[in-house]
Amino acid sequence: MIPREVLNRPEYVYPADEWRLVEKQFYPPFLAASETLFSTANGYLGMRGNFEEGPPVFQSGTLVNGFYESWPIVYGEVAYGFATTGQTIVNVPDGKIIRLYVDDEPFYLPTANLLSFERALNMKSGTLDREIIWETPAGKRVSIKSRRLASFQHRHLAAISYEVTVLNAEAPVVISSELNNEQPDAIGEATYGDPRRAKGFRGAALVCSVKTVRDRRIVLGYTTTNSKMRLGCGIEHAFDTECPHACETKDSEDSGKVVFSIDAKPGLPIHLTKYIAYHTSRRSPPEELCERAERTLDRAVSHGFYDLLEGQQQCLDDFWRRSDIHVSGDPAAQQAFRFNVFQIIQAAGRAEGAGLPAKGLTGQGYEGHYFWDAEIYVMPFLIYTSPRIARNLLKFRYSYLDKARERARQVNQRGALFPWRTINGNEASAYYAAGTAQYHINADIIYALKKYVDVTGDEEFLYDVGAEMLVETARLWEDLGFYSERKGGKFCIHGVTGPDEYNTVVNNNTYTNLMARENLWYAAKTVENLRHKDPQRFAELVDRTGLQVSEIAEWKKAADSMYIPFDEKMGIHPQDDSFLDKEPWDFKNTPPDRYPLLLYHHPLVIYRHQVIKQADVVLAMFLLEHDFSAEQKKRNFDFYDPLTTGDSSLSVSIQAIVAAELGYRVKAVQYARYGALMDLADVAGNVRDGCHIASMGGTWMAIVYGLAGLRDWDGHITFRPRILPRVEGFRFPLTIRGQMLEVDIRQEAITYSLRKGDGLVFRHEDEEIQLSPEHPVVVRPRTIRSFKAELEPGEQ
Ligand code: BGC
Repeated sequence: MIPREVLNRPEYVYPADEWRLVEKQFYPPFLAASETLFSTANGYLGMRGNFEEGPPVFQSGTLVNGFYESWPIVYGEVAYGFATTGQTIVNVPDGKIIRLYVDDEPFYLPTANLLSFERALNMKSGTLDREIIWETPAGKRVSIKSRRLASFQHRHLAAISYEVTVLNAEAPVVISSELNNEQPDAIGEATYGDPRRAKGFRGAALVCSVKTVRDRRIVLGYTTTNSKMRLGCGIEHAFDTECPHACETKDSEDSGKVVFSIDAKPGLPIHLTKYIAYHTSRRSPPEELCERAERTLDRAVSHGFYDLLEGQQQCLDDFWRRSDIHVSGDPAAQQAFRFNVFQIIQAAGRAEGAGLPAKGLTGQGYEGHYFWDAEIYVMPFLIYTSPRIARNLLKFRYSYLDKARERARQVNQRGALFPWRTINGNEASAYYAAGTAQYHINADIIYALKKYVDVTGDEEFLYDVGAEMLVETARLWEDLGFYSERKGGKFCIHGVTGPDEYNTVVNNNTYTNLMARENLWYAAKTVENLRHKDPQRFAELVDRTGLQVSEIAEWKKAADSMYIPFDEKMGIHPQDDSFLDKEPWDFKNTPPDRYPLLLYHHPLVIYRHQVIKQADVVLAMFLLEHDFSAEQKKRNFDFYDPLTTGDSSLSVSIQAIVAAELGYRVKAVQYARYGALMDLADVAGNVRDGCHIASMGGTWMAIVYGLAGLRDWDGHITFRPRILPRVEGFRFPLTIRGQMLEVDIRQEAITYSLRKGDGLVFRHEDEEIQLSPEHPVVVRPRTIRSFKAELEPGEQ
């Protein structure tokens, strides 16, 4: 149960602005959170919203997706098959530092007399813009304008335009632009007691072996101590002013800076453009990566900052055209939705060859690991708006299939077991009960694969890449489960953890069994189709996997006999075999400040109670809605919803979707709002460690699947719009089999238009719609009702 005062709590301080997140003053208590929220990233490289001038800093973060250091996991008591090596995303040398001194006084935000301050994350242009007027103690007024971006067009490149003008006097000005290798070591201490945070390395992670200092350029090459990953990074500058100036380049052991000393004249701008490049690899030596960084910098300087801005704008125009949820009549809601999807593209846009970290590249929370968050929470958005990125992410999973095969052997199983959390493909979860035991990750990946194929029609991908993953995951399920006499000969799966991490290592988790069943069926169907359609390719698959035709029948048999827990008396699906026997949690005497429970109770206390961290059966009811009758859905929701703490940010969006389907309008909107503000209002209290990317994908789903009522099993698209939150209307595009559908939902009418393509068939309620580009279809909403803030009689 999420206490009502908590549910209604999300309030945030940012002024409503449809395209920007704006900070009107520097407010130290928000420093840590705003570093996360004002991050700029492109999926490969991310920079937290630290100020160019350095301190004050909560965590100075520049992160490269998949660039990690490893460390031995030390167990008090080790057991066979435990994960042995931890992986933590490394904070790479910080290229965003530009220190400023006027009259030899540093510009230091907390004490500076600011005549004006505005910082804005511009989601339309993909830039972080800041304008300040600072009055020095000597009365000199200094205008500082900066603009920063992580380029979507050139994934290895970031840039900062930095302009200083002393408005009313002459003054010596020094601008020191740095590339700084400093690992934050504070995080290590803070990790204790909160498993969601990351490990610190105390500066030992990166060893510098290449250093080039030339003119206004610094290029450094590093190798990580244990994981032996390699990095080449560099900075280069363009400098322009009419004021007299000099420039000096300095280096220390493994950092460097370019220092500009200027005799500033009143009103004459000093303009610095800083280009920052990162290249990483597991194989190429740092020397080679430094050469690549130099080439990236050469190109950036020759094209200039304006060119970069233009490229960024084109990428974002294209992104918004495919992905925007447009809201009429509520700028704050508009801002929140845009912020959520913008952070997804910042996390995934140019990930290419890497996964999608739980926090994107906005912080080191969860160590930069990839979880199921990508497949179940973010993939639907990507599949419907950026199918190429969705495909890349699936391909990336596939690249770890051999490691998943190896892991299955380590846990004494056939087939493949994908790691619960990882960067390099090996299991990195040190707590097996809420980690390795989440075997559902296998079925989650396959669920995403199926949705991708159903929605895009990309069968090539299914047969080229998917089939092999299907064979190995199906093998694992078939080998893991057994036919239980005590359950009437049904196929049971024991000793696993479902999505809900407050009930671990259980037998017959309903979610897992249902998802494993789909995994098995889909594997059997795909492999059989391939066998008939393309014997040559089938033979290749057999070669790669050693598949025996008899296995297909075994998978089908296991799936057909899958045990799905159901309690006849209560008319609900028990979450697992033991859940209903547990003691109910005393919610009444749990004050709101004792959540999340995981920070205040020993896991055993939680495990022996009926209390849920995040949607589990309720998630199954959304993902596999056809497996539940309307009556079962209602009973399940009514039973589980009050037991769900929402201690994981992955919960509320799913509760919102199912509440909407069941007609619990107030609850649906409350949950959707709570999820949409997860980071903007710091609902979970840990936004300082990074954005909750899964929740952001969940927010998109809460609109599209929740309010607009999209259902798409097997690629059959149906809309059942149910409710309208307090807005005049909203509209969004969906890319389906290469065509672009736009859905516009208003109280008086729902309009479906085909923006691209030559014809699309789908359903609105029970009616089939054949949409052509020339003729939008307008339907009167049957059940849509506007949302009022007050609770209505009889409504939950
Ligand atoms: C949730 C997991 C999730 C992880 C990373 C945990 O709190 O319980 O389901 O994958 O966070 O977001």
